Amino acid sequence: MTGSALGDIDPWPDFQALCRLGGRLCGTPSEEAARTVLADRLRQLASRYGGRFRAIRQPYDGWRAQNGRLHVAGTPRPFEGYPLLRSPATPAGGLPGEVVDLGRGDETDFARCAAALRGRIALVRHEFMFSPDHVHRARKYAWAAAGGAAAFLIAPTGGMSGPIGGGVGFGDPPPIPALGIDADAASALGRPEGARPRIRLVVEAEAEAMETEMLCLEFAGETDDWIVLSAHLDGHGLAESAIDNASGVAAALVAAETVAAQAAAMRDRLRRGLRLCLFSIEEWGLLGSEAYVAGLDAAERRAVALNVNLDSVAGSPDLTALYSGFPPLAGFLRSAAASYGAPLALHEPLVRNSDHYNFAAAGIPACRLLAGFGKPESNMRYVLTPGDTADKVDPGDLERAAGLTAHIVYRACTADGLDLRAVSNGEASCN
Ligand SMILES: [Zn+2]
Repeated sequence: MTGSALGDIDPWPDFQALCRLGGRLCGTPSEEAARTVLADRLRQLASRYGGRFRAIRQPYDGWRAQNGRLHVAGTPRPFEGYPLLRSPATPAGGLPGEVVDLGRGDETDFARCAAALRGRIALVRHEFMFSPDHVHRARKYAWAAAGGAAAFLIAPTGGMSGPIGGGVGFGDPPPIPALGIDADAASALGRPEGARPRIRLVVEAEAEAMETEMLCLEFAGETDDWIVLSAHLDGHGLAESAIDNASGVAAALVAAETVAAQAAAMRDRLRRGLRLCLFSIEEWGLLGSEAYVAGLDAAERRAVALNVNLDSVAGSPDLTALYSGFPPLAGFLRSAAASYGAPLALHEPLVRNSDHYNFAAAGIPACRLLAGFGKPESNMRYVLTPGDTADKVDPGDLERAAGLTAHIVYRACTADGLDLRAVSNGEASCN
């Protein structure tokens, strides 16, 4: 397939349909509605091209928040905030405390403020997430909790409006309340050097058992091997979760459709099967893909030749593949992008920032495609803010991402040999 191979298959209608359903926070009617719409779409593709659709139930430790706000001493009205996903509730009446401003909140900042932090409330800054030197919010939260902070606040930088969203990390129940605040609240916390503002933090939230589904569409191949194309359908309640990740879901859908249509047009089966996995609870710590990969036995893992995960693939014209330390995968992607005629940057380290992580951690060659890596001025800066809306995505960027994905997946499904499993020995990749 070449750069024009998408033909009349257009990701824009799927993208818009998802955005119209709202932010798709797991456990809300918005996420459930998205699953219903997507399941219908996958069933149609299954019947049109001879595939198999399954919805796989996934129970999880759910959570919902009613309210999050900050009362700052000396200001007349509280500031509304956004409880970070899975944040525990504060005690009835709120949690009073002094705020320690750690600035960016990197490891050095936490070391510098270690003595002051104990028993107080940590304030850090959100930063552009798609860059090699980004310090993930989950790490900042973990440092705050380990340092004895009573709670965690994260504020925007660079004139961004609205509160910051996001989760607080992986694994165990989060230990301390966490609230995303907006620039107004952050500036109300500004104090002359030495004085610490007193606040009362209120997070009203509760944990409860919930259930979602992973949506899976398979087109079998001639062999028992599979290419897994994935994207997460869940998001945040702040906006439309358009870039993150309506863009990835729409691109994955049309890429799968394109590959299935191409195989049908050739009256041929693919050498390797194509399995499209639409995960949920990604924003909660990559839980959907974690459960899925954990459920594969050793033979099933070996049968997955490659995972191509799409997360936030439009919002900038620049596309990058995070190839998780599998050098042969870098070579394969470079060759595929060159033959498609689209630039694709490559970034080697395994990064725990989307569902590809769980595949790669299990030894399965896996990459994440994303837009705007290292481009803080791009619309990618709106991810996890109220600005993540459909107007931030250029239809041409989305179509290019979908087209390149279809090309990569088609080549992976049809290549004679495809052994991408060699892991980097830590030296720079040379292919
Ligand atoms: Zn995402």
